[in-house]
Amino acid sequence: MTYRLLLVLGLLLSHLAVRAQLAQPAFELQQLAPGVYAAIDQGGRAGSNAGIVIGNRTVLVVDTLYREPASRALLDAVRKLTDLPIRYLVNTHHHIDHVAGNRLFAEAGATVLAQRNVPGWVQPENLRLLGGEQASAEQKEQVAQLLQPQLTFNERMSLDLGGRRVELQHRLGHTGGDTVVWVPDAQVMFLGDLLWRRSIPNLIDANLVQWRATLETLGVMGEQTRFVPGHGGVASAQDLREFAGYLDALDQAVADAQGPEETRSAAALEALRARYAAWAYFKGLAAPNVRDALAEREGRKRVPAPRP
Ligand SMILES: [Zn+2]
Ligand SMILES: [Zn+2]
Repeated sequence: MTYRLLLVLGLLLSHLAVRAQLAQPAFELQQLAPGVYAAIDQGGRAGSNAGIVIGNRTVLVVDTLYREPASRALLDAVRKLTDLPIRYLVNTHHHIDHVAGNRLFAEAGATVLAQRNVPGWVQPENLRLLGGEQASAEQKEQVAQLLQPQLTFNERMSLDLGGRRVELQHRLGHTGGDTVVWVPDAQVMFLGDLLWRRSIPNLIDANLVQWRATLETLGVMGEQTRFVPGHGGVASAQDLREFAGYLDALDQAVADAQGPEETRSAAALEALRARYAAWAYFKGLAAPNVRDALAEREGRKRVPAPRP
């Protein structure tokens, strides 16, 4: 085979591989109850999970995914399910992987809702999440273009979708501005990043003490409740306890470790590796988790400041 032919073949194959990747869906739409759906990220192509709740009169969407084709696919998915207007979009928190498609849904007529701390954090805290000044010009532009929530609440808010009530509840832990979306008649709870199923979480804006207390109160929700996490598949009460167990183990590993900071971090990481190496994102997030947990324990953890 000539070099040229090889080159052409190679190009063709890589083109086909890209096409195949594009053809793969960004998320799997799972029906959890009549009119209640979870969009579960597939292979990181959506960047996070989302949700759809349909009443008799209006539709509520939970979060808008990270990558633009995924956000568009989510809007298309709603349109295929119902002609009813999308009245509400709830952001479970400010992180970019949950709010990147806000503008798309606002243009489709939705009012963007979140806990009162969220709007002020969308730009500065996402820029920090992406590395601050180290972020690429493209990332900076994406953050600058993010649409902030337009309507906020402090502790809780009840929404009527027509024949179906949805409760928004502020809970502490992952960011300080987290919202839980509860659909009582369906026994489904969208937890945003307060829950990561069999995945190591991002703790950049977290408070572990508050997070563990929140999971304890959610743990009594009942065995029949289904929980939609921000990352990972649809979860049971057992999965919730398993995740709480990880945060406990992290806190314990950091408490047990002795010596100078570097030695302590390494020992804590090894203790976690023994139990959690198989969880998603262990490689990327376990070491930062140890750093964050140590900083919190020593009272030098920086978290976003709540709105006065
Ligand atoms: Zn998050
Ligand atoms: Zn997330």
